[in-house]
Parts: sequence; C-alpha cells; structure tokens
Amino acid sequence: MSIDPQAFTELADLSRELHVACDASGRIEWCDERARRLLDLDVGATLHERVAPGCEDKLREFLRLASGRPVRDWELPLLVHGRPATVTLGGLPRDGSILCVGHVIPGPFVRAMDQVNSMISDVVDLNRALRDEKNAVARQNDELVRLNSELSDSNRGVLALHAELEDAEHHKREDSEIKTRLVANLTHELRTPLHSILGLTQLLIDHSDGQLTPEQAKQVGFIRTSAQELLSLVNDVLELGRIESGHARMRVEPFDLSDFVASLRGSLRPLVPADAAVELVIDDPPAVRVESDQRKLGQIVRNLVSNAVKFTERGTVRLTCRVAGERLRVEVSDEGIGIAPADQERIFEEYAQVDHPLQQKLKGTGLGLPLSRRLATLLGGTLTVESEVGRGSTFVLDVPQRHDEAHAMRAMVERSRQRAPDSTSILVVEDDRKTLFLYEKYLVMAGFHVMPACTIEEAEAQMRENRPAAIVLDVMLDGDSSWGFLARVKNDPQTRDIPVLVVTVTNRADKARALGADEFWLKPVDQERLLRKLRELARPPARVSVLVIDDDETSRYLIRKHLAGTEYELLEAATGAEGVALAQQRHPRVILLDFLLDGTTAFDVLDDLKADPRTRSIPVIIVTSHVLDAVDQRRLLDEAEAVISKQNLSRELAINRIRDALRKLERSGERR
Ligand code: ADP
Repeated sequence: MSIDPQAFTELADLSRELHVACDASGRIEWCDERARRLLDLDVGATLHERVAPGCEDKLREFLRLASGRPVRDWELPLLVHGRPATVTLGGLPRDGSILCVGHVIPGPFVRAMDQVNSMISDVVDLNRALRDEKNAVARQNDELVRLNSELSDSNRGVLALHAELEDAEHHKREDSEIKTRLVANLTHELRTPLHSILGLTQLLIDHSDGQLTPEQAKQVGFIRTSAQELLSLVNDVLELGRIESGHARMRVEPFDLSDFVASLRGSLRPLVPADAAVELVIDDPPAVRVESDQRKLGQIVRNLVSNAVKFTERGTVRLTCRVAGERLRVEVSDEGIGIAPADQERIFEEYAQVDHPLQQKLKGTGLGLPLSRRLATLLGGTLTVESEVGRGSTFVLDVPQRHDEAHAMRAMVERSRQRAPDSTSILVVEDDRKTLFLYEKYLVMAGFHVMPACTIEEAEAQMRENRPAAIVLDVMLDGDSSWGFLARVKNDPQTRDIPVLVVTVTNRADKARALGADEFWLKPVDQERLLRKLRELARPPARVSVLVIDDDETSRYLIRKHLAGTEYELLEAATGAEGVALAQQRHPRVILLDFLLDGTTAFDVLDDLKADPRTRSIPVIIVTSHVLDAVDQRRLLDEAEAVISKQNLSRELAINRIRDALRKLERSGERR
C-alpha cells in the first residue's frame, strides 16, 4: 500500500501541537511552522507578546520553573490576533534554553468545554440532588411502610375492637332484654299487692264493712298514704330502669292540646291540699294539635306541679302551655322557696334534694326531676329551670310539637301502601315504634309486605283494608285490648285461620294459646328465627288429615263443626275396626278416639294401631264422656297423647291438642 505524502501534510495541519525554543525571559530562539501559523510567533519575538492580559505572572512562573526542571500541562491563556486561545505547555531545560511543546486549544473550544464542564457539573449537581431526592423518597417510603404496618396493626386492633364491641353490644342487648323482662315481672309482682292494699284500705275508708273508730280511720289513712308513696316510688324506679335499658315505650299519637290540658286539670287539682294557701292556675292552652306521648307529657307536668305545690307555702302555681314555631313549651311556675344557682343542675340528679327547713317536713324520693328530664329527652326535648331563692321557680319543658317518630311512622304507613303485587302481607302490631321500624326492616328485606300498627285500633283498621297472611302481635299484653284483639281474630270465621305469633316480655303463653295464638315467644326475638317462622306460618296451610273414631254421630258432627274452616281435613269412622282399617289406608296425622265404642274400648283399638307399623306412630287423642278411673287414666296416658273430656271439648281445645300432638311428633322426628 502506498501512502500519499500529501495526506501526512494535511494530517500534520490538523494537529495543533507546536514546538518552540526560548530563553529564560521567553524570547523565541526557534519555532516550528505550526507555532508561526497558530500563535503568530517568530524568532526574536517573545512569548509575553501573546499572553492574555492578566496572565503574565503565570508565564513568568512557567519560564522560571522550566529553566530548572521539566514542567508538564501548564495552561496558559493567550490572545492571538485578538482571539482567545489556551495553550497547554510542557517545558524542558536544555543548554540554557527552554524547549517548549504546546498544544493549542482554541477559544470557542474552551468556551464549549467550559459549557460542557458546567453542564457536567450541573449534571453532577442534578445527580446529587436526585440521589438526595431518592434517599428522601426511600426514607419516606420506609416511613410509609412503617406507618402502613402500624395502620394494619391498628386496623387489626380496630377489627378486634369491633368484634368485641359487637359482642358486648349483643350481650348488652341480651342483658337489657333480661332486665326488661325482670322489670316487667317486678312491675307486676310489686304493683299487684300494692294495688290490693290500696283497694282494701279504700274499702275500709268507705265503711263497706261497718264504721271505723276515729283512731282506726286515722291508721287506715296512714296505711293508704304510705302505700301510695310506695307505689309512686316503685313506679319511678321501674320507669327509670326502663328508660335506662332503652325499653321505655313511646306512644306517639295525635291529640288536641286543649283536651290534654282539660284531662290534666282533674288529676292536678288533688295535688293542692284543701288547707294550703296555694292557688293553682291553669291557663287555657292554644288550640293546636300535638303529636307526642300524652302519658309521658302528663307525667312530667304532674311531677312539676306537685313539686311547685310542695315547695310553695303561699302564692300561685301556674301552668302555661305555648306553641312557638314547631315547639311546645310547657311552663310550671311557682312563688315558693326557689332554688340557689348552685343547686339548679344538681336537682336533676337521682336522689338529690336541697337542704331547706321545708324539705324536712316533706316526703320525696329525689327521683321525680331526673325521671322528668329523661322523659323530656325521650320526647325529643329539654327540661330546664330558672329560679331565684325566696322568689320562686319556673320549670320549662320544651318539646317538639310533632315527635320525630310521628314523621317516621307516617313515612312507614306510606311505604306500606306501596305493596309489591305478589308479596305476602304481615300485620305487625307493636306499640313501640322503634321495634316496629326494626320489624319493618327485617321483614321488608326478606321480601314481606308489612302492615304496621301501633295500636289495636290501627291493627283493626289495617285488617279491614287488607287480609294479612300472618300477624305478629307484639304488644304489652297487660291491657285487655290486645287479648280482646287476639280473641276476636281467632273467633271470627273470616280471620280465624290467620296465624298469630304473639311476642311479649311477660310470660303469658297459656293465656295466649288458650285464646288461639299459634305461637308464643318471649323477647328477645331473633331475626332469623322470626323470618323462618313467618315463612312457615304465612304459607297456605297444607291440609292435615285427622281421623275421628267415634260411634256417636252427634260427637262426630261436633268435631266436624269445630274443625271446619281450619287446615284439618276430617276422616270419620263409626267403629274401631273401621277406624283401624282407615288409618292403615289413609295414614292420618292424628287420631281422635272415643273411649267407649260399640263392644270395644279404646284399649283394643290402641292395641291394633300399635301392632301395625303403618299406624304405630300416629298420635292418638282420647276423647271421652266416660269418667275414667285413675288406673284407666294412667294406662291411657301411657299409650295416648292426651285425654280430653267431651264436656270440655271446644274448638280451641281440639285445635290446640291436635297442634300439641303434631308438634311433639315433629320434635321426636327431629330427634330421630
Ligand atoms: P322529690 O320532690 O321527690 O324530692 P324531685 O326530683 O322531684 O324529688 O326534686 C328534687 C329536689 O329539687 C326537691 O327535693 C327539692 O329540693 C328541689 N325542688 C324541686 N322542685 C322544686 C321547686 N318547685 N321549688 C323548690 N325546690 C324544688
């Protein structure tokens, strides 16, 4: 391969390396072609002529050093034809001269390099910043991870707490149900003897059994007052207990305020003793309708008026009702002893009484005001006092004219009008609206249509509009009205086959069943169990076959009549043999067997039935007009489910016994 020497010349031109020999003062003794071209130097000139202003010392230092030893990479800024350039010099002392090798870096290149350098340092800075940032992010990330784990720890804690709370809530509900039941039973247990004492003392006071001596009359009077005080104490304690356990029942209903005040007049008058120097003034109320719990309102007002009369030796006690906006304001003012500011809140605490000479003379429990305040809260309002010692007090009850429940109830009745076409209607009679709302929620969620009723009147109105598939009767069955309703439903041929589930806090299962209730449950009611029961009760009943074996035509007729319109389908046999044959063919669910049949007794028929596996387990109820001796009775009860006398046979008894027998059979089937 031959190389063109011209190419070397061009290559040499591209090189920016130059050589100069100078003396120690910088005077050029010899220089090569590139030094001439690039730096415009020549022999005789000095390097000082080319140095950029301000850099002369740097050149002097180079020359000084290079006169004694080799120097490398000495950067020297120059100015050539007015253009800046930098030369990197190496110097070598030789025979009193300095041989220099330079490499020229032109100005633009230097500037570019500077820019690159500054860019590089920018990049370095950026990189550092990024690294810092990255570290900060990493630290934040670590913090987040830690927080996250803390959060999931506390989340687990919250879940556990939640479960615990739910558990506690469940127990609380159970406890409070038990407490309510206990309270309800106590109410009964304590009030009944007190009512008897009051009734009996009244008889004595009325001289129904002859005159009392004046001393005896005084003693009876004391007994009566003590019994009344005890009764009011029992009532207050029970009522407080009920409110505390969240079971105070609200009976919100619409009424005229004037009717309410008129009915109060009668019960307030006796609170003022005949010999008292106190006048009770009851202002006429405005003519408005109120929707609230009348009984509770009355209880509060009676309590306030009773206190006002007690703590006023002379003067006026005034009851005023006003309506402002949507609020009802009831004021009871007196001109009595008054209450010091320090005591004005304390008197609303249980058992709190103010020290005062008058107090010593009076009876009281210190429960009236706390109870009244809680009742006021239940009514959605407040009870406060303004008072001045020696001048008198004004107690102010401020409640909504329409209780929240009234609105909620209207909305529920409205909802009940929108019935899905093929939904099953359940009439729910429940005097506590909160519970009624709960029932509605459960039942509607399960696809039932709810006909809500708070009172028996509402229940009857609902029944006139629509025939429910089942009834849940959850009312305090103390009053006659609920029992009456149950009896009416079960006696009316139109409604007697609507199943009724009675739910209550007091154990009155016997009475409920005797009146025809299909089920009786004590509270609390479990949602699942309720839905299961309603699905079962509301199903159109499958016909249940019942075989009557009786040779007496009239007895069979009576049973046929009793069971008419029920789910029971009657098979009839006039002799024992006929009955056994029918039982073998048709497998009735229950047999009603007469004790004395033509020529045989129930024992023979029972033997035949027990001998055949097809009929062995059919429950048998003995129906007899025969008076059984103890031995027969015991023997029969061994083999039959029940023995009923024809004399007592009623529709309810027949149905109940059949149901009991079927239930027992079902249970033994479940056990097996
Ligand atoms: P009791 O009246 O049975 O003691 P309360 O709870 O009704 O219980 O009242 C608590 C106390 O508040 C009273 O004993 C009495 O000291 C004070 N108090 C209540 N009403 C008045 C009133 N109108 N004037 C002065 N003091 C009153």
